[in-house]
Amino acid sequence: MTLLSKRLQAVYQMVDKHTRVADIGSDHAYLPVELLEEKMADYAIAGEVAPGPMSRSKEDVEKFGLSDKIDVRLGDGLAVIKANDLIDTVVIAGMGGILIQSILTRATSEQLSNVKTLVLQPNIGEPLVRHWLVENNFAIVDEDIVEEDHHVYEIIKAQKVTAPVVLNEAEFLMGPILMQKKTPTFIAKWQHKLNGYHKAVANMKHAKKIDQEKIDVMNQYIKYIEEII
Ligand code: SAM
Repeated sequence: MTLLSKRLQAVYQMVDKHTRVADIGSDHAYLPVELLEEKMADYAIAGEVAPGPMSRSKEDVEKFGLSDKIDVRLGDGLAVIKANDLIDTVVIAGMGGILIQSILTRATSEQLSNVKTLVLQPNIGEPLVRHWLVENNFAIVDEDIVEEDHHVYEIIKAQKVTAPVVLNEAEFLMGPILMQKKTPTFIAKWQHKLNGYHKAVANMKHAKKIDQEKIDVMNQYIKYIEEII
């Protein structure tokens, strides 16, 4: 029986086989446990900044008999990774885009030295994460979108490349791969947002002080969304 929620299963699906994974902000360590139980990953670090979840994870990893394959480590962001861990895949899931971007920005080149793949699942603020990827030469190679408990989650998989990465504004907003896949969940998300933006523009036009700049930004979003869905 899987420990994983629908959201974490979608994250799990993005991890390549025979990888050495660091799950940053692992909390309960469900993801590394499943990756090692299913022999997807060869080794994992469950990184956690909070001592409580970290010690619970340690107990769970021992319970599953995986202590030789999963290291549970206390630390801030990628500081739990050492170059000789040979981590090639970093997962950061279940946090806001600002926090994910901040964790990645604070990573040193040593911590990222062997990392080829990032699997990121921001709860909100996806464009911020895509901006960090583009600015740091990570190309988005896959994306998924799932709904769970009335919340829509996006999962972004990116790989380190040498050539510059370019995305347009619509791709930053909606996701370059998600825009191509156009799944029912994607359409429903953006239809809902579109309705919200239309209402917001109508309200702003009736405001005492009209903020034309804000209206223009909203109208630009409306244009992108209408073109895609
Ligand atoms: N990754 C799991 C998931 O997707 O279900 C847990 C998500 S939980 C909402 C976020 C976890 O990230 C918390 O356990 C929190 O303590 C941890 N966290 C927050 N900031 C962190 C940081 N800078 N470094 C490591 N862990 C962090």
